[in-house]
Amino acid sequence: MTFTELKWATFRMVSYSIVAINILTFGFFLYVIAPYTSYFFFGDLRFWKYLPYFHKYYFYSISYLKMTILEDGALTLFHLPMTSPPADSPDPGMFRLAKEWNFPEGTCGKCSNCCNFLTECCFYDKSQNKCLCYGTLFWRFFNCGRFPLSKEQLDYFNCPKFEFINRAGRIDTITPRGSR
Ligand code: SF4
Ligand code: SF4
Repeated sequence: MTFTELKWATFRMVSYSIVAINILTFGFFLYVIAPYTSYFFFGDLRFWKYLPYFHKYYFYSISYLKMTILEDGALTLFHLPMTSPPADSPDPGMFRLAKEWNFPEGTCGKCSNCCNFLTECCFYDKSQNKCLCYGTLFWRFFNCGRFPLSKEQLDYFNCPKFEFINRAGRIDTITPRGSR
C-alpha cells in the first residue's frame, strides 16, 4: 500500500466512523461538525444553507444500511476497496459515452436509475433531476463519481449513458471532472 492509498483508506475509515457515530447519536453528530458536514456533502462551508439535509441523511443512511444487509448481492454490487482513488468519471479504459446518448455529457438526462438504488438518495433533487452533491468529497470518494465501476453495475441499472468496452480497464489516475 502506498502512502497515497493509505491517505484515501484513512479518509474512508473516518467517513464511515462519522456515519456510525451519527447513527448512534440519532443524527445529531452531523450538527456538531456542521461546517465539515456541509463541506463533505455540498462542497460549501456555509452549513446553515444545508441544515434540512442533515437529518434527511440520517434517515437515508439507516434505510440504506438496512437494505444493503437485506438485499441479496447489494454489498457485492457496490463493493469499493478502501484504497480506491477518488474519481469523477468511470474508468475510460472500461466505459465510454453511449453512442445513443442524446443529453449533455455532464448530465444524466431524465434517468435517475442509480440514484434510487435500495432507497431514494436524499441528495437527489427530483424537481430538477439533479444531484445536489455533484463533484464533492462524498460524490468523488464513494460510489457516485465512479459509476459504473463494473459491467455488473452498468447492467443492473440498465444505464443508458455509458457503454462497456473492455473489462481490463483500470483507473490509475484521478480523471477530469464532468461525466455526470
Ligand atoms: S449521484 Fe448524487 S443523487 Fe445520485 S446517489 Fe449519488 S449523491 Fe445521490
Ligand atoms: S449514471 Fe446512468 S444509471 Fe445513473 S443516473 Fe446517470 S444515466 Fe442513469
